[in-house]
Amino acid sequence: MARHMDATLAQQCPACDSPSMQTSQTEYEVEHFGTVLISVSACTRCGYRHSDVTTLTNREPIELRTKIWSPEDLNIRVIKSGTATVSIPEFRATITPGQYSEGYISNVEGILSKIEDALTFMLSTAKGQKLRKGEAMLRKMRAARDSKPKFTLVIKDPLGNSAIVASNPKKVRKRNLTPRELRHIKFGQYAGHQDPELH
Ligand SMILES: [Zn+2]
Repeated sequence: MARHMDATLAQQCPACDSPSMQTSQTEYEVEHFGTVLISVSACTRCGYRHSDVTTLTNREPIELRTKIWSPEDLNIRVIKSGTATVSIPEFRATITPGQYSEGYISNVEGILSKIEDALTFMLSTAKGQKLRKGEAMLRKMRAARDSKPKFTLVIKDPLGNSAIVASNPKKVRKRNLTPRELRHIKFGQYAGHQDPELH
């Protein structure tokens, strides 16, 4: 169920610098979770678009973690905000938010595809050891998705706008980020560039 709310104010466009960005917001109900606010900004001059999500319930710096054990687990809903860092320790994959990172509602499979896309893009210019490591990681991820998933999805969000929504809430472990972790985490719009990291 979605309810459209048109709260429009013109902002500076990061792509063409004209004050032509317009933002519209939609409230969206996620089953077993609650209300999520989806905002989409579009530039009326150059067509640049950006979207993000805000949850109206959690507002604390959180880490969420869930074990993916079966193909059904790939359907677990994920609300990933623009400030979230997503990682899969088993694949040594971490995606940190960039300046214009997008937020979206997806599921675990969708998150895997996004990580694959980011990796593939990064590998298009990689060489030597980095390229071999990245390719091995991609093969593992594809195998995990296509046959026997067995990995952990971890989301850290300093603004608490992200969520992992399983029909069995016990599947999701949640804790607050420590002050030390908060000092070291990238916030997206407050931090530098966007790069998938290979460890
Ligand atoms: Zn523009």
